[in-house]
Amino acid sequence: MSEGLVTVSYIASTILFILSLGGLSNPETSRRGNAYGVAGMAIAILATLLGPKVSSVVPVIMAMAIGGSVGIIAAQRVQMTQMPELVALMHSLVGLAAVLIGYTSYLDSSIEFVGVEKTIHEVEIYIGIFIGAVTFSGSVMAFGKLSGRISGKPLMLPGRHVINLVGLLAVLWFCNLFLNVESSGSGMLFLLVMTGLALAFGIHMVMAIGGADMPVVVSMLNSYSGWAASATGFMLSNDLLIVTGALVGSSGAILSYIMCRAMNRNFFSVIAGGFGTAGGTTASSEAPQGEVQPVSAEETAELLRNASKVIIVPGYGMAVAQAQHTVFEITKLLRERGVDVHFAIHPVAGRMPGHMNVLLAEAKVPYDIVAEMDEINDEFPNTDLSMVIGANDIVNPAAQDDPGSPIAGMPVLEVWKAKTSIVMKRSMASGYAGVDNPLFYKENNRMLFGDAKKMLDEVLTVLRAG
Ligand code: NDP
Repeated sequence: MSEGLVTVSYIASTILFILSLGGLSNPETSRRGNAYGVAGMAIAILATLLGPKVSSVVPVIMAMAIGGSVGIIAAQRVQMTQMPELVALMHSLVGLAAVLIGYTSYLDSSIEFVGVEKTIHEVEIYIGIFIGAVTFSGSVMAFGKLSGRISGKPLMLPGRHVINLVGLLAVLWFCNLFLNVESSGSGMLFLLVMTGLALAFGIHMVMAIGGADMPVVVSMLNSYSGWAASATGFMLSNDLLIVTGALVGSSGAILSYIMCRAMNRNFFSVIAGGFGTAGGTTASSEAPQGEVQPVSAEETAELLRNASKVIIVPGYGMAVAQAQHTVFEITKLLRERGVDVHFAIHPVAGRMPGHMNVLLAEAKVPYDIVAEMDEINDEFPNTDLSMVIGANDIVNPAAQDDPGSPIAGMPVLEVWKAKTSIVMKRSMASGYAGVDNPLFYKENNRMLFGDAKKMLDEVLTVLRAG
């Protein structure tokens, strides 16, 4: 395939990737968006393999077969609730690839750059390895935090901002030394030192961020992985990789901004860390007091039967229990009986952006009864029953009432404003942010204890029988 045809194919791929991003922004067009992405990637891979830069396709195909098999097995085995961890791991691989390609480019003696071109090439290598190493170690830490292998509590080293600043200055200093080495190849030591600093920076950055801020970190690392890919594109002089990386990088940055707005947080204070655990705030909030009022599945069914308007709030626990299909069956039954049922989705519900939308779409819940937080929060006072299924942080009134709470200021779904609320969970345990929830003790709240799927199956049986 000629260079010209490869360029045309790359342009086609770029257009398909842009259409893909556009499609993925709406649940109704997301399947089409996904198909565009797959087509764009297939064209990109074929054009690269058949293009003039690849002299032997066999090793590439072998590597793709090994990587692809691992990917297929991992994707088949992973539970829906482990998806954010898998995504974090994938981001770490993009970072690692950028680091390895950076070193390979530096060691590659087949192309000799001179003068300004040499400097530009070396800056590309330095920046590419830096972003790649930060992405790699940060994503591995995020994987550890999301999978519970590492505590969600922020690590607050004394003078951490100074440590970061000194580290950054050192990276710039070593860049200067790296660019001014006498003989080509002898800058390896500076590259290695900078890689060590970048790895430490990635670890420190994510370790300093508390549980409730993790959604921002996940989307921020997504953005970093895009910039790492883009940097790799510069190193390899591959236009498609540059554009694709920039698309991922900027869409991840926009997502981080949206996540910050959803949590009423400033992006820079999130990166500075410390939000989202009981130990991370200035004032300490008191544990909520009072009695909880447990209900049975029969009583829950009775409340549902007598309601004319119901709002269902799904959270991480619904994903754990895989209760979405039963939720849909109950919704269908109630709607057939004339009950007005809606779903309320908090932007950071679950463990990844759009987590609840994916589950509800999988269960075939119609999109027109699924509302975002801002659209539906005013509806709770006119609602007979709000049913919280495995959610906790996103319905915590302490975010509004208690300025000392670690999640103070985070917008929440005001389920307690309905005539009655029911919270479905297994115990009194706290949610991801590790914060107590005063909702459980409110006079109009009832607790349905147990696995969400099991309890909802019981509720459905009672409803059907009645
Ligand atoms: P939470 O983590 O606050 O609460 C989930 C609740 O589900 C738990 O309290 C748990 O209680 C309950 N639960 C777990 N398993 C089951 C089960 N089998 N049946 C019934 N209940 C169950 O989830 P939310 O969705 O309310 O909030 C999301 C949190 O995750 C926020 O703090 C957010 O910042 C954070 N986060 C979000 C990300 C995103 O991108 N969306 C990414 C990373 C973090 P019990 O153990 O008692 O059953």
